Amino acid sequence: MSDCLFCRIVAGEIPADVVASDERYVAFRDIEPQAPTHLLVVPRVHVESLDAAEDAELLGSLFAFAREVARQAGVAGSGYRAVVNTNADAQQTVPHLHVHIMGGRKFTWPPG
Ligand code: AMP
Ligand code: ZN
Repeated sequence: MSDCLFCRIVAGEIPADVVASDERYVAFRDIEPQAPTHLLVVPRVHVESLDAAEDAELLGSLFAFAREVARQAGVAGSGYRAVVNTNADAQQTVPHLHVHIMGGRKFTWPPG
């Protein structure tokens, strides 16, 4: 989608600090990090949200890729949050499916 922020990042039309990519997924640094490590992992194809994702294989591979990204970022051993905000109540602000990988600090539960 030409007017989607993350599609434009995937296409290279908007700059981002890309840390990993393959033919299906791209991982880049969140512009407003909420933790020392805060990465976003997105599919190259436009999917609006977790709720809108029809392709279970794409979802599984997305998480496998996100796990590798967390390992490469050095937070797998200490721990991290993998968060998928979905639709309005969860405050999904960018309507292109993305996994937040956040680590490098201790998190609290329940989340706000
Ligand atoms: P969400 O609120 O779950 O939809 O997450 C969207 C995330 O995208 C937020 O954490 C934003 O800080 C981040 N974000 C917005 N614009 C950009 C951008 N141009 N580059 C990187 N991250 C961005
Ligand atoms: Zn998109």
